[in-house]
Amino acid sequence: MKALAKTKREKGIWMIDAPVPEYGPNDLLIKIKITAICGTDIHIYNWDKWSQDTIPVPMITGHEFVGTVEALGDEVNGFAVGDRVSGEGHLTCGHCRNCRAGKQHLCRNTQGVGVNRQGCFAEYLVIPASNAFKLDDFISDEIASVFDPFGNAVHTALSYDMVGEDVLITGAGPIGIMAAAVARHAGARYVIITDVNEYRLNLARQMGVTRAVNISKDKLEDVMSELHMLEGFDVGMEMSGNPAAQKQLFKMMNNGGRVSLLGIPSGECPVDWNEIIFKGLQLKGIYGREMYETWYKMASMTRSGLDISRIITHRLPIDEFAKGFEIMASGQSGKVLLYWD
Ligand code: NAD
Ligand code: ZN
Repeated sequence: MKALAKTKREKGIWMIDAPVPEYGPNDLLIKIKITAICGTDIHIYNWDKWSQDTIPVPMITGHEFVGTVEALGDEVNGFAVGDRVSGEGHLTCGHCRNCRAGKQHLCRNTQGVGVNRQGCFAEYLVIPASNAFKLDDFISDEIASVFDPFGNAVHTALSYDMVGEDVLITGAGPIGIMAAAVARHAGARYVIITDVNEYRLNLARQMGVTRAVNISKDKLEDVMSELHMLEGFDVGMEMSGNPAAQKQLFKMMNNGGRVSLLGIPSGECPVDWNEIIFKGLQLKGIYGREMYETWYKMASMTRSGLDISRIITHRLPIDEFAKGFEIMASGQSGKVLLYWD
């Protein structure tokens, strides 16, 4: 089969011919239709320090996908050949305390599809059936192909009550913008997003944020006073990984504000703890999606009218993967899809 793999410990990704993966009694063999490029795939492409420390080579990468079930193991229930599926890219151990408590998203032994084991940038993928998510007809293939990052946005945005709240999101990457759309859908009053990238701020505007603020030009304080927001934000979501953005987020929160942190700083990141202590802020770190509550919420919010389709800005056939990686790395895009069929 065709597959996109990291075959050398240097910058780049290469198309290879690989064997179709074998599946066990509890697994699904999935024929891939569309994959999406994640920021993580760009880190692996660039072969940064995290990738050098984490990714065994050779490795077929990728973890955002939609496809159909091609074959299934003898022990699998609830799936049939031909079912449309997306899937959770975090494989959990099933025997640690959190797994046994039904909190798999907190498993200490998580393995990542396309990170620690073969990924979805291939004609076929094998995952445990318990990681697959069967798709109702009202979920399009394209939306399903971004369920993984959409799930990051949903997990983060639904961590705290949104109804009537004023929300600040730092970082208008694909996940920040989707989180803004979720916050609106869930009943927030004002949703304000910041970035330094005008392309992405425009995309956020098209997806219904109250204000998209370019903090390299405009002051968040001015936007807040224009909206008569006298006390600060109720809910904050850090979605850039940028230390300056994180600092600004804490500073703009009202007393008693609730903050979730998804963005991953590239190293240690100084925090003014006085800001957190004296304001009585609540903090929550977010990793991945809740298994599988987030997946059901994504499906049901899509059903009830949440439309994130504008986050998909580029579509390419798989043979033009190099161009896809280039567009994603440029920052001048939302989600970039690669079609395998
Ligand atoms: P992205 O890199 O595409 O988006 C981040 C955005 O932040 C960019 O548009 C960038 O211009 C913007 N930014 C940079 N400096 C800023 C500043 N000072 N103020 C405001 N914005 C600023 O990333 P993404 O794919 O949307 O993911 C968002 C973050 O979440 C990344 O840090 C990513 O590594 C992380 N992530 C975490 C998890 C998890 O499970 N915790 C999963 C996926 C991604
Ligand atoms: Zn576990």
